[in-house]
Amino acid sequence: MSIRLSDGRVIPMEMHKVRIVQKVTLPPMAYRLNAIAEAGYNTFLLPTRHIFLDMLTDSGTNAMSDNQLGAMMVSDDAYAGSESFTRLAAAVKDVLGFELCMPVHQGRAAEHLLAKVFVKPGSVVAMNYHFTTSRAHIELAGGTVLELLTDEGLRTASREPFKGNMDLDKLSAAIGQYGERIAYIRMEATTNLVGGQPFSMDNLRGVKEIASAHNIPLVFDASLISENAFLIKEREPAYRDCSIGEIIREQMGYVDIVYLSGRKSAAARGGLIATDNRSYFNRLLEWLPVYEGFATYGGMSTKEIEAMAVGLREMCETDVAGSAIQFIKYFVDRLEANGVPVVTPAGGLACHVDAKRFLPHLPQVQYPAGALAAAIYLASGIRSMERGTISTDRDQQGNEVLADLELARLAVPRRVYTMSHIEYAVDRITWLHRWRAQVGGLQFVEEPPVLRFFFGRLAPVGDWPQRLAEAFVKEFGAEC
Ligand SMILES: *Cc1c(COP(=O)(O)O)cnc(C)c1O
Repeated sequence: MSIRLSDGRVIPMEMHKVRIVQKVTLPPMAYRLNAIAEAGYNTFLLPTRHIFLDMLTDSGTNAMSDNQLGAMMVSDDAYAGSESFTRLAAAVKDVLGFELCMPVHQGRAAEHLLAKVFVKPGSVVAMNYHFTTSRAHIELAGGTVLELLTDEGLRTASREPFKGNMDLDKLSAAIGQYGERIAYIRMEATTNLVGGQPFSMDNLRGVKEIASAHNIPLVFDASLISENAFLIKEREPAYRDCSIGEIIREQMGYVDIVYLSGRKSAAARGGLIATDNRSYFNRLLEWLPVYEGFATYGGMSTKEIEAMAVGLREMCETDVAGSAIQFIKYFVDRLEANGVPVVTPAGGLACHVDAKRFLPHLPQVQYPAGALAAAIYLASGIRSMERGTISTDRDQQGNEVLADLELARLAVPRRVYTMSHIEYAVDRITWLHRWRAQVGGLQFVEEPPVLRFFFGRLAPVGDWPQRLAEAFVKEFGAEC
C-alpha cells in the first residue's frame, strides 16, 4: 500500500510490523575498500559480515510471516504421504487451480525436469525472455532458446507498462520457421533479466491462442507471479477491480504447465510444478525420484513445504503482492528525479541502474555493470548484482558476448528493508552518480568458463577505487 501525506508526497507503507530482527553493521570506507578487493571486485564473493544492506537478490531472502513460521512447526516429516504435501497440494489447487503438483528442491530443478522431458537435441523453446537457469537446462538438453520479447522490452528508459510482453508476430513467424521443433512456449512472469517487467493478461491470452492453434504446450514460470498480477491490476484497466487471486487464476486458465521457485513471491524456499495434464505429469513424475526425491517431498524439507503452502496463499493478498513493488517504485522514482539512469517503468523484484548510461565512458569489455556494482558497494556498503556482460559467458570460440543490457540490480527482498534504508541507498547512489567520472573498468584475473559471474575474480583498471574512496571520505568522513 502507499499513503498520501498531507504535503502531497506519496510514500510506500509497510503493512506489517517487525517482530524478529537481525543485526546489521555499516563497515567504514577503509574496511569496504579492503573487502571488495578481497572479493575480487565480484559482489557474489562478499561475505555477509562485510555488507550493510544485502540487495544482491530477492531469492530466499524475504521475510516470512508469523503464519509461515508457525506452519513450519507442525510439519509432517513422513518420507511418503506427508500431511505437509497434502496442505501444499490444497494451496496449489486453491491458488493456482491445478489438481496435480510435485515439489522440487528449487525453481531450477523444475526447469531441469521440464527440459529432460520436453527438450531433445534440435528442439527450440520460444520464450518472452530467458532466465539464466532456464536457458542453461534447455541448452544442456540440446535445445536452443528463442527470445521473442517485444522490441520495447529492452529499452531501459521507457513508459511502456508491459515490457515483459511477447511479440505475437515474432511468435507466429517462429512457429512458421521451426514448426514441430518448438518443444514448448515459456512465459516468465515479472521477467527477471529485463528488469522485473510484467506481461499483460491480454498478451498471455494472445500467446495462448497461438499456442493452442498449433498444439504447443504453454509453460508458465510463476516464480514472480504475484508481482506480475499486482502490476496487471495497476496497469491493465480491465483488471482494476479484480483481486490478485482472481488475476492469478485467470492466468493459470491459459497455461498447460506452471512451475515456480518458492524463494520469490512465495517467500519460502523450494519449488514446484503443477498441471492438469495427467500425461505431462506422469512423464515428469518418472524423473522426480531420480533427481529430487519421493513425490511428496521432492527434495524439500517438509518445513519449507509448509512455509511455501502458506506463502502461496498469502501472496494473493494485495498488500503482500505489492509490498516490494511499492518500495521499488519509490526507489526508482527518487533516483530518476535525481538524474540517475534507471530502468523505467519500475517493475517487480529490484531497482535496476543502467550502467551503460551511468558510466558512458567505459567500453562494454570493461564490464560497466560489474564496475558499477563494485562502486555502489564502496559508496554505501550495499551489495547489488551485476547483470550484464560478466553474467554472459564467452561463446564456444572464447569470444566475449556483449550483453544486451548492463544493469546493476538492487533487489528489494520482500518486507525486509524500511524507508530509511531505501532513502540511504538513493542518497549514496546519487552521490556516486555525481562522481561517476572517477569510476573505471574491471578486468578478469580468474575467469571460470561456465557461470563466471558467480566465482570469477577481477581487478580494477587503474587505481579508481582508492580515488573514489578518497572523494567519499572527504565528504562524509572516515567513519561511514
Ligand atoms: C529464481 C528464478 C528461477 C530459478 O529458481 P531457483 O529457486 O533459484 O532455482 C527461475 N525463474 C525465475 C523467473 C526466477 O526468478
